[in-house]
Amino acid sequence: MNQPKKEMLRGEAWMAQFPVTENPNTPVRRPVVIIQNNKGNYYAGKVIVVILTSHIKKENQPTHVVIESGVSMGLMVLAEEIHTLEKWRLYQYIGTIDPVVMDQIDQAVCSSLGLTPPDRVRQCLCGRCLQNFMSVPGKRPKRVNRYQTEMFECDYCHMRPGYDYWL
Ligand SMILES: [Zn+2]
Repeated sequence: MNQPKKEMLRGEAWMAQFPVTENPNTPVRRPVVIIQNNKGNYYAGKVIVVILTSHIKKENQPTHVVIESGVSMGLMVLAEEIHTLEKWRLYQYIGTIDPVVMDQIDQAVCSSLGLTPPDRVRQCLCGRCLQNFMSVPGKRPKRVNRYQTEMFECDYCHMRPGYDYWL
């Protein structure tokens, strides 16, 4: 890998070293996805993650997500495997999970914890239509992925290009 990455963000995949249970000489290393919110990722000494596995099975189970694009393609998320780890255990940054995949992971985590997924709408907004939404009380559009660089046609004006937002 290139530069060691210190900051940890929600939606990133990392290699993690898990606490040794049986044999102290063979530490368990696994890829994980960070599901903790970024305030926690910044201030807390620990991160909440779900495990990734290359052992694909029961892919229709609601807590399982097979990653079909981008980073960690071909691996499966086990959202029933939620762990809280000290930050130092995440030792290698792999990459940022595709926002569409991350949405699926969020659904799987809700399923795992028995939570009702929040009622959110995902829309592509250009700068001007975004301003209109910003002025609506109680609405605060949030970027789906702040690393999104590719722009698509705005879902409202269908004229200007924009980024994806949660409304
Ligand atoms: Zn627009």
